[in-house]
Amino acid sequence: MRPEVLFPLFAPVRTLPGVGPRMGEKFAKIAGERVLDVLWLKPAGYVDRRLKTALVEVPEGSVATLKLHVLSHQPSPPRSRAPYRILCSDETGVVELVYFGGHNDYLAKLLPEGALRIVSGRIERHDGRLQMAHPDYVVAPDQANQIPEIEPVYPLTEGLTNKAVSKAARGALVVAPDLTEWQDTAWVSKQHWPSWWEALNAIHAPPRVDEQASERARRRLAYDEVLANQLALMLIRTRMKKVAGRVLQGDGVLRARLKDALPFDLTRAQIRTGREIADDLKSGHRMLRLVQGDVGAGKTLVALEAMLLAVEAGAQAALMAPTELLARQHFATIAPLAERIGIRSEVLTGREKGRLRTAILDDLRAGKIHILIGTHALFTEDVGFDDLALAVVDEQHKFGVSQRLSLSGKGGRPAHVLVMTATPIPRTLALTAYGDMEVSKLDEKPPGRQDITTRAVPLGRLEEVEQAVARAIGQGDRVYWVCPLIEQNEKLDVAAAESRYRELEKRFGIDRVALAHGKMKQSERDAAMARFRSGAASVLVATTVIEVGVDVPEATVMIVEHAERFGLAQLHQLRGRVGRGARPSSCLLLYQDDPPLGDAAKARLKIMRETNDGFIIAEEDLRLRGPGEVLGTRQSGMPEMHFADLFRDADLLSVANDDARLVISRDTELTTPRGEALRRLLYLFERDEAVRYLRSG
Ligand code: ADP
Ligand code: MG
Repeated sequence: MRPEVLFPLFAPVRTLPGVGPRMGEKFAKIAGERVLDVLWLKPAGYVDRRLKTALVEVPEGSVATLKLHVLSHQPSPPRSRAPYRILCSDETGVVELVYFGGHNDYLAKLLPEGALRIVSGRIERHDGRLQMAHPDYVVAPDQANQIPEIEPVYPLTEGLTNKAVSKAARGALVVAPDLTEWQDTAWVSKQHWPSWWEALNAIHAPPRVDEQASERARRRLAYDEVLANQLALMLIRTRMKKVAGRVLQGDGVLRARLKDALPFDLTRAQIRTGREIADDLKSGHRMLRLVQGDVGAGKTLVALEAMLLAVEAGAQAALMAPTELLARQHFATIAPLAERIGIRSEVLTGREKGRLRTAILDDLRAGKIHILIGTHALFTEDVGFDDLALAVVDEQHKFGVSQRLSLSGKGGRPAHVLVMTATPIPRTLALTAYGDMEVSKLDEKPPGRQDITTRAVPLGRLEEVEQAVARAIGQGDRVYWVCPLIEQNEKLDVAAAESRYRELEKRFGIDRVALAHGKMKQSERDAAMARFRSGAASVLVATTVIEVGVDVPEATVMIVEHAERFGLAQLHQLRGRVGRGARPSSCLLLYQDDPPLGDAAKARLKIMRETNDGFIIAEEDLRLRGPGEVLGTRQSGMPEMHFADLFRDADLLSVANDDARLVISRDTELTTPRGEALRRLLYLFERDEAVRYLRSG
């Protein structure tokens, strides 16, 4: 239960001074509905309102505070829309204060002719004249201290002024309790960090301009966030490890048959990962393991081996893919192997309907199906197993902690969970999003793989590219040709898959080219894929439907049209479709160079040319785009960070990881004084579910 001391923070924003129900809705838009959300609103920047000495030194467009002589008033004529103007000056220049719809009496009193006034606002040039429209502050020189030296600038929404947000934030500071320090005090003082309460004050009501102080405050609050995150994940993980999991021990017979059925040996990384999984499965605790492996590292077999182990132990296993296409691809790989091994596998997606569906569901419940392959819908729909012991989740970033936990519910007894990600995740993100899981790394590709040569080519050289394609298919190679959009959109000058398809068909012959895109009927798409897979067609023109999972080892050329429009992870995934066989492969990134490429697009193409290593690409992606973009926040299980920037503050994340580990090893139930304070931290960040795992939570 949330401790009482935190109640004021979780009260509605309405309870703050100056915030009514209408404004409460505005706050909900930019921050959230509670007092706490206002405190977590990170200012986009600060305005320096210290007195400037001379008007000439103020850059146009910036906010300045100046001491001005009021020269003359020029009220707007009656019934006119013209503004009220007040001419002012200092020794270096003249500026007009401009008020629209101002009250004459009020302005005459506020800025009497001949008087000196301290005026603060934004200076701009209009019609050749310097102006300040509606100054933020106008005070007599002896009242100068009424103008804050520095003011936070908040993200705003229609109908919400910076002043109103600032006032609410100050109100929130008043009700914010000065909570007992939850950080290690030696660490905090070594970093010269303020306390939580002081840090919030430094952010929302800084007494003076002090960039170092506000950065220290931000880092302090950032560390609170990442520590809460790490601690919560670790508590969950510790708890998970204690959750009884059924002991799965197989006799190895099915796995031995798998090895016999394969034309190659497993890689060392596959063997190691398989052993880690087998150890988890017989440990007596529930497995929650992440397998990270670059495209083409061979995750499917790792999954199959684990599932066979479950079947050897007399239970069932499920494999879930994010798309139907991928589910079918997995099924196409696994079904023939399963048949040779002598077990039954089935696929179940939205396409299995009527009698067929009923039959599959019946057999599943009767335990006649050993391995079921489907989409993630398997978990949301009412699919009943006889005895599900292992769930494998493939290619999934968008699968949060809570969803992973909910997997336990299916079929009464908690199933072991194996998650596989294709796009490697930088360590920092892995810690944050998957800190509750054990991690296996498939850091080795099957032998004989050729590196892929990557080149960037301007679209103007399309003719040469097509000649190269002609040569490649002349030698029996197969070529992917990826286009970004489906239908011709002249305005955006998009090379559409359909028109490219027709064009290439003309060039290479009607039956040599296949087309697959997301708007086609499933059956047509499957047929196109099948033609390409069998070699009947040599070129597959496709949209990004082929991004994940498609496996045609004979394909050796990947062409991506308008590569500048794709993200790094996407390009890496696409490129991973080739280089799967023994023949050397290449990837051509066609880009539009008119207008010239932006910096980010240039950087992406450069990285793609320089490396094939998914882990490096993932780090670069994080650097270029930031963590929110890389993982997506909410759905991914990535906590939303207010002050922490997982790239800039990556150092804090590793410290927090160590810190959390140490805390839990010494104070497992968080009962020491620091432990008690840390519980409050968890509640503050609404990690209530983690606290619940404590004995007296
Ligand atoms: P991932 O899912 O990790 O991207 P896949 O599981 O689709 O990769 O495997 C890619 C290709 O590599 C498949 O054609 C698969 O048969 C092959 N493969 C997997 N393991 C090995 C291995 N140990 N040796 C040779 N080829 C392998
Ligand atoms: Mg895969």
